[in-house]
Amino acid sequence: MLDTALFPLFADLRGRAVLVVGGGAVAERKIQALLRAGALPRVGAPQLGPALQAMARNLRIQWLQGSFSEHWLADDIWLVIAATDDAITNQAVAAAAHQHRLFANVVDDAALSAFHVPAVVERGPLQIAISSGGGAPMVARHVRRRIELMFDQAWGQLATLVGHRRAAIRKRFPDMGARRQFFDRLIEGPLLDLLRRRQDDAAEARLLQEMADAPTATAGSVVLVGAGSGDPGLLTLNALHALNRADVILHDRLVSAEVLQLARRDADFIEVGKSAQGHSTAQEHIHALMLEHARAGRQVVRLKGGDAFVFGRGGEELQFLRTHGIPYQVVPGITAALACAAYAGIPLTHRDHAQQLRLVTAHCRDSLDTLDWPALAAPRQTLVFYMGVAALEKIRQHLLAAGLPASTPFALVENGSRSDQRVVRGQLNTLPDTAQQHRVQSPALLVVGEVAALADELHWFGAPPLHAPETFSSLSAQTSPPTLADAA
Ligand code: SAH
Repeated sequence: MLDTALFPLFADLRGRAVLVVGGGAVAERKIQALLRAGALPRVGAPQLGPALQAMARNLRIQWLQGSFSEHWLADDIWLVIAATDDAITNQAVAAAAHQHRLFANVVDDAALSAFHVPAVVERGPLQIAISSGGGAPMVARHVRRRIELMFDQAWGQLATLVGHRRAAIRKRFPDMGARRQFFDRLIEGPLLDLLRRRQDDAAEARLLQEMADAPTATAGSVVLVGAGSGDPGLLTLNALHALNRADVILHDRLVSAEVLQLARRDADFIEVGKSAQGHSTAQEHIHALMLEHARAGRQVVRLKGGDAFVFGRGGEELQFLRTHGIPYQVVPGITAALACAAYAGIPLTHRDHAQQLRLVTAHCRDSLDTLDWPALAAPRQTLVFYMGVAALEKIRQHLLAAGLPASTPFALVENGSRSDQRVVRGQLNTLPDTAQQHRVQSPALLVVGEVAALADELHWFGAPPLHAPETFSSLSAQTSPPTLADAA
């Protein structure tokens, strides 16, 4: 396996000489493909199969008769393919090509090859090439089969149709953003279906009509998108759609790399990370960036972890956009409470345990002191604290002082829904100690209530919940609950 990625490349071989060493069936297949690409194949082998012989007679290919010689790597050769069934010859060809700085492919030998020939799905001028880096050709083959099903021949016709009008389309929509929107509309419209039914004239007419009708300048806008909690599968279809269309993506630090990989490759990615403790990009700066890019006519995605309207300052951002007359949309996301609970096996409500759910921010001292703790200590409810890692001791004190039993179960979910998720379980009384023991770090979500204990039984994702060691928890349980006065 290669430890670096191959550089993908589509080569224009028209009128260029390519040396193929070998005269059997494999060589014949390669030569057919080269001829389709307009190359001038030169085949070197002591003997040729009947088809290749016929081609040589018709002068479609040139035959160098004999065993491989370095002289075959003449100055006019652009590429080399070794397709013999003799490993020594193949090696010699690869080595000689390397000497001459020619790219050589050795059929079925990724390690010896300086270039690989990918598995290809062809739809007219549209070619989709697949490579596993030479390590897993079988996987590439399966991917190819799936892609074959996803794109029918109409896509090839579409590429041809649009290709003929390329210059006219560029002239009509000089603005990149407008051009992209035009294509989006075109592809979502009935064009492909017309091509599928072989209504070629109607398809052409439709294209011309779209060219006349589509706007030639883009109006910028902002889509506030919730990215979910980390697992890219938690993105909504609308979120994916927005990410595919974005020109600029302003994303939080909490948004996972896997999610960002699903976005349009050539979008500008700007991290405007905010963390509870660390450095932050001031909110005003985020506002200024949204404004600048939207006013320049770009499609801006403001991408936030979880949901933008749950402790995400999405409200402030929309108020700002509204004040400045920038159009916007909102795509909801799966907030941490829902994702972490699901991935930890904690039903947030349960007929036997909780009929209420409260989402609470434990971000700063002020907000902690102004919370309605007696209400939070009421029975038969589930509390979910966001941004609470630094305030666990305070949360414990407040809840105990307000009358919540020391034995109330808690669960801390760190990196919920991500591959490194950890769940730490215990009783309210030992909350900060247990968290410290396991070095729980942000981002983590605190769930307090009877339902938290169900994680021990219902967990299904990653490792089972971690607990404080037996001795430790029984020791702590003996100490009497502190009062707020103790802590002050
Ligand atoms: N808008 C976000 C919340 C932002 S506040 C949402 O709807 O989820 C940031 C807090 O969310 C973190 O401090 C943490 O408590 C919680 N959080 C976000 N993602 C998390 C994750 N993958 N695992 C655990 N907690 C997470």
